[in-house]
Amino acid sequence: MDRTYDVTLPASTRWLADPDAQAVCNAVTDGGHVIYFVGGCVRNALLGVADSDVDMSTNALPERVMALAARAGLKAVPTGVEHGTVTVVSGGKGFEVTTFRRDVETDGRRAVVAFSDNIIDDALRRDFTMNALYADAQGRVIDPLEGLPDLRARRVRFIEDAAQRIREDYLRTLRYFRFCAWYADPAEGFNPDALAAIAAHTDGLESLSAERIGAELAKLLAAPDPAPAVAAMRQTGVLGVILPGSDDRWLAMVVHFEHLLQLAPDWRTRLAAVGGEDVDQRLRLSKADAKYLHRLREAAFGAETVAAIAYLDGGDIARAVVILRACLSEAPPDPAVLEDILQAENAVFPVKAADLMPRYRGPELGKRLAALKALWIASGFAATRDSLLDTPKS
Ligand code: ATP
Ligand code: MG
Repeated sequence: MDRTYDVTLPASTRWLADPDAQAVCNAVTDGGHVIYFVGGCVRNALLGVADSDVDMSTNALPERVMALAARAGLKAVPTGVEHGTVTVVSGGKGFEVTTFRRDVETDGRRAVVAFSDNIIDDALRRDFTMNALYADAQGRVIDPLEGLPDLRARRVRFIEDAAQRIREDYLRTLRYFRFCAWYADPAEGFNPDALAAIAAHTDGLESLSAERIGAELAKLLAAPDPAPAVAAMRQTGVLGVILPGSDDRWLAMVVHFEHLLQLAPDWRTRLAAVGGEDVDQRLRLSKADAKYLHRLREAAFGAETVAAIAYLDGGDIARAVVILRACLSEAPPDPAVLEDILQAENAVFPVKAADLMPRYRGPELGKRLAALKALWIASGFAATRDSLLDTPKS
């Protein structure tokens, strides 16, 4: 039975009430086809957690979706027609509409797909039962693979055979840990069969691109508490393959200290705590993230005061340093330090170039300003303009 119309998404579900999304549904159903919301958006609406991006799934072929969108006065862009995706623009927003598919061939990284008119085919090629939930335009939930009981129990379960699903696409190993970190009931622990299948297939992870590994790991580490999932990644050998030299022993402490200071989770702090060799390359971090992480680790294991770090590099790095240093000393951080950081972050160096002229000019002026600024930082931002200007030249 593939239709379960007795469950309806909460009326408060933002994207369901969105007239622009409804217009896309109408365009397709007016042509005599079915169209469903699918995946993360349905899962998250049922869990009552933050929206995920909205994906739609239909039995109409991509060209038909294009034609029906045009007929309804909506722009449609063939963003991935070879795998069945058309982006329909409605109210200035893009909605990805993908034709039902089934896998024809898989090699662990990418799949050759064929279009299908059958929702069960489409559901069977997804990764976890809680990700194979659909909802129609009225919010009625369609559950072809009995994902609802798993979702209610907060159980991340591979669709059919875990080992086979992993061999089809090794990214699913990382997705498993990500969805466990975000949505599983921590009291339930991990499914031993899933972990065994994962542990038996760690070799295949080498075939994944650094980008995909990096993107997955960042999402996993952004979960409220990624520590149990990362520990399971270590135990199954996954962590050692994707991030050799890493060590997750600090992770639970990082999470605990973040709570203590009421800081929002930051995947970068967590990644800095876990460490590893060639992290930039292995995760193909963006230039900005790589720079941030280098500076964070250098600052955390260096001797600069947190206030100096806040002034020079901003409050985010300084707060992350507080967390990492607390882990290093295995002692909870003092919340009062947050106030120091806030002050330092907004501190304004009281000496201006004009104050030093005409005594100093050109490169000498720059040097003197830098020297006075260093003194001011070393004083904990307490040195006044006058005392700095009175400082003898060394
Ligand atoms: P998020 O909230 O992170 O967007 P999501 O479940 O929507 O979560 P996406 O990566 O956006 O995740 O994928 C959308 C849907 O596509 C998933 O819910 C799942 O049904 C399917 N999917 C995505 N990646 C895979 C994969 N590697 N193997 C099988 N199914 C997948
Ligand atoms: Mg999504």
